[in-house]
Amino acid sequence: MDEIERVHEVLEYKEKIVVAQIAPALRVSIGEEFGFPVGKILTKKFVGALKQAGFQKVFDTSVAADVVTVEEGIEFISRLEKKENLPLFTSCCPGSMAFIENKHSELVYHFCTVKSPQQTMGALIKTYYAKKMNIPQEKIFVVSIMPCAVKKFESRRPEMDFNGIHHVDAVLTTKDIAVLLKNLKIDLNNVKENDFDSLLENASGAGQIFGVTGGVSESLLRFVSHKLEPEKKKIEFKKLRGKEGRREIELSIAGKKLKIAIVHGLQNLNNLILDKNEFDSFQVIEMMACPGGCIGGGGQPVSTPEIREKRIQALRKIDSKEKVRVSSDNPEVKELYKSFLKNPGSETAKELLHTRRICFKCD
Ligand code: SF4
Repeated sequence: MDEIERVHEVLEYKEKIVVAQIAPALRVSIGEEFGFPVGKILTKKFVGALKQAGFQKVFDTSVAADVVTVEEGIEFISRLEKKENLPLFTSCCPGSMAFIENKHSELVYHFCTVKSPQQTMGALIKTYYAKKMNIPQEKIFVVSIMPCAVKKFESRRPEMDFNGIHHVDAVLTTKDIAVLLKNLKIDLNNVKENDFDSLLENASGAGQIFGVTGGVSESLLRFVSHKLEPEKKKIEFKKLRGKEGRREIELSIAGKKLKIAIVHGLQNLNNLILDKNEFDSFQVIEMMACPGGCIGGGGQPVSTPEIREKRIQALRKIDSKEKVRVSSDNPEVKELYKSFLKNPGSETAKELLHTRRICFKCD
């Protein structure tokens, strides 16, 4: 049975509470499967379609991206102070991580230890949300809806489980969910709009730009600026944006000079790693396997550079219009820390949201 049939069956049998999480990139690409113009923002219609399909709750993975930003930001500041394991590799792209594990396994210690937004959201649904709602976690079936087939592999990695429980039970790509909706005769053109469900509902602009190249770094730097130079609280890091497969930026935050590389495409990543002197000069490397970042993911509708640019502009537009644009300012993230995680990097956060990166060759 393939993953689409499996999810269809779980929705039909109604034995579990079936919960969906939607990655940021899909809100600007799912419409292409239903004849909408490229780059059309369809967040609410997409949530409405999933509700019509029988998903009881629909959460926004971008809220988890906000949490990842806070955890990653604290880890980055600590590494910067101790001058250890730099450059930090961002950790949300399992495609890039698998590439490094297989081709450059000596570098796995540069990975940020925070799980990806998909795994973070799965963990929060089965612990924080389950506890608040008084639902046994084994009753919940989490379906991730992602731009990426590699997320299927990521969700099955043993170090992503906690106490033997998978945080994500099934992963559907953009193309998979379009097939499922069409099988159920649900057309995005005719569905009622709906909001994400509460507790994990409202993401900041920073959480939503995780879907584009440069977005993860920009989200991280917004947080770092707010933390280290609260009098400035810089939001716009326009130098991080762009199309080139490898971009290098130097900037200064609170007197600390930072050199950041943004790479998309595995060949570009490989070239940067092979240039040892260059590699050692960076403090952060944002790595995305797909062109343009997740908006150009392998599970997305087929794209050209022009299509990817329209999707990028659409996610950037969402960010520019959000009232909250820094992850740590998100009231839902503040509440999550206050009532559950306590502090960034706390024991609970480490247990649920961080992982030791396993190197297939060394372990
Ligand atoms: S960049 Fe590509 S491989 Fe990496 S997480 Fe995004 S869609 Fe998946």
